[in-house]
Amino acid sequence: MNVCTRVSNYAARPARRVLAGDIGGTNLRLAVVERGAIEKSVRVPMKEFSSPQALAERSALEISRFGINDVAVGGIGFPCPIDEKSGEPLFSPPNLSFGFEGFIDALSRAAGMRIFGFNDARSAVMGEAMFGAGRERDVVIWHGIGTGYGFAIVDGEQEIFPRANEGGHFKVVNPILDRSAKECGCGARGCAEAYVSGTAMSEHYFQLTGNRLTGEEVGAAFLSKNEVAVKVVHQAMAYLAMNISTGHALTLNGLHVLGGGVAQIGQPLLDTLRIMLRSPGVVSWPRQNDLASKVVLSELGDDAGLLGAAVLAETRDFSFYNPVL
Ligand SMILES: [Zn+2]
Repeated sequence: MNVCTRVSNYAARPARRVLAGDIGGTNLRLAVVERGAIEKSVRVPMKEFSSPQALAERSALEISRFGINDVAVGGIGFPCPIDEKSGEPLFSPPNLSFGFEGFIDALSRAAGMRIFGFNDARSAVMGEAMFGAGRERDVVIWHGIGTGYGFAIVDGEQEIFPRANEGGHFKVVNPILDRSAKECGCGARGCAEAYVSGTAMSEHYFQLTGNRLTGEEVGAAFLSKNEVAVKVVHQAMAYLAMNISTGHALTLNGLHVLGGGVAQIGQPLLDTLRIMLRSPGVVSWPRQNDLASKVVLSELGDDAGLLGAAVLAETRDFSFYNPVL
């Protein structure tokens, strides 16, 4: 296999056990990871928590249950932007009832190790670029479709715009010209996330039927050829095609990886998206670029964020990467 220099350089370094975490809209996951392999892991429903302190205390308890004493550093992915200096999450995500103020500091103290916070799209793209579908490609773009919609880029050994990775808020509908542009959890209107995420699919399905399904359930109905679900998923993929086209314009030759809970619909979802990407007018320089063939499904699924957070934590500790800011 022809792995890229990012992967071979990482493999040449000494192996190190790292704590990894992933905080999603539904679950908190914590794990002990070494060189892309998960040794131990635990999953706790987010609905069990009502404050960042409660989350930090339970996380520290779960870490102590791992029984590790040779782990000095950890990385946790959050569904929101991160303050680079403090490592703390900046805004509370709209789908959680509480923010994360002081969480990293509280957990670092309770767990007795240095913990770094990362945006979860940033963690996932690094996981997939290092150990998954992107390990043979220099430029990897992550599209995580779950409760929200995340977007992040790795180019060679460099993360692109690691401070934000909020391409889910690229506009796909102009809120100035189109008053019907959908509201997004970020406070703007017309963002990709408001059309592409599992939450958006759930809302669209509810508008059409009066029945409330989760994004994953809409996906299952799509697989059963439910007519409304097919319409909902087709629309979401049409908007995702616009963001993939934007990612293409930013990178020109990147591999686009689809992950997150909704992407577990699998090949039929990818086939639908590829039809959208081959529609006239979507892709710039279409003669030179069959963009549809450069979109693939995640190989790591749920684990991409955990494995990437571990790499980011240990490499940040070693100052291995030189992020483009
Ligand atoms: Zn937004």
